[in-house]
Amino acid sequence: MKIVTMLNDGQEQVGILSEDGKYVIPANKYADVPDLMAHTDIEELLAIARMGVAAVPVGSVKILAPITEPANDIICLGINYRSHDEELPQEFTAEKIQKREVPVYFSKRANRCVDPDGIIDGHFDVVKKLDYECELAVIIGKDCKDVSEEDAENYIFGYTILNDVTARDVQTAHKQWYFGKSLDTFAPMGPCIVTTEEFPFPPALEITCKVNGELRQKSNTKNLVHSIPYIISELSHGMTLKCGTIISTGTPAGTGVGMNPPRFLKSGDVIECEIEGIGVLRNTVK
Ligand code: MG
Repeated sequence: MKIVTMLNDGQEQVGILSEDGKYVIPANKYADVPDLMAHTDIEELLAIARMGVAAVPVGSVKILAPITEPANDIICLGINYRSHDEELPQEFTAEKIQKREVPVYFSKRANRCVDPDGIIDGHFDVVKKLDYECELAVIIGKDCKDVSEEDAENYIFGYTILNDVTARDVQTAHKQWYFGKSLDTFAPMGPCIVTTEEFPFPPALEITCKVNGELRQKSNTKNLVHSIPYIISELSHGMTLKCGTIISTGTPAGTGVGMNPPRFLKSGDVIECEIEGIGVLRNTVK
C-alpha cells in the first residue's frame, strides 16, 4: 500500500493511492502521516482504500513529502555501501569500512522536507560543492526500545526515498557533517511511503539516481553494509526510536564528489532518485 501526503482543495491531507496508481483516497480521519501511523493498522487502511470514498484523480492533487515536518532530526547512515566508501576522497573517511565494525551515524535537520518536483535551494552564496545522495529511508511506525534483529521488521511502517543533499565543502569544513547536510531544502523526500507488506524483508530493491537524465548511481539495497534489522536493533539498544523516526540508510557509488574530476550540481540541474516499487523523486536545483 502506498501512503501519500497531498494538497487537495487547498488542504494538506493524508491519502492512500489506488492500486492502479490513478486515484488517491483521502484518509481524513488522520491529521497527517505520523498521526496515521500512531493510530491505525494495515487492515483499517485497506478498508479505507476499498471503500474509496471521495477518491480523486492523482493529477488533480499536489503530492507533498510524505512526512512534511519530521518531529526529530533524520538519522542517517554514513558510508553504508562499499562502493561509496571506495569512491570517496580520503578527507571524508579516515577509516575505511573494511577496518570498521560499527556504522557511521549522523543526523540531518529537516525543518520542512522538500516535496516531489520541489526546488532544492543550492545556497550558492555559501556552497560551492553541492551534491546528491539517493537513499532508501525507513519509517519507524511504533515506539521501539531494545528490539532484536529478528523483531525489527515489526516496528517499521514503510519505506520512502530520501535525497540526502549535501554541501561537500561545508560538510568537511566543520569537523562534523551536521551543518553541511542540514541547510534548508536539503531533504527532498517521497513520492510516497510503501508499507512493509509490499516487500520481502529486508527489502532488496534497485536504486538509481540520474542527473539531467544521465545515470549516476545504480545499485541495490541488498548491498547495505549494515542491514536495516541490524541498524534498528543497535540504535534501539540505548535510544528509544519514536514512531515517525526516519532512518536514511546511506547512498551507493556515483555521487558527484566520487567522480574524477568531481561534478557538482548547478542551478537548473534535475535530479531523479528512483527506487524499485516506490517510485521516482524528482527535484530541480535553483
Ligand atoms: Mg547520505
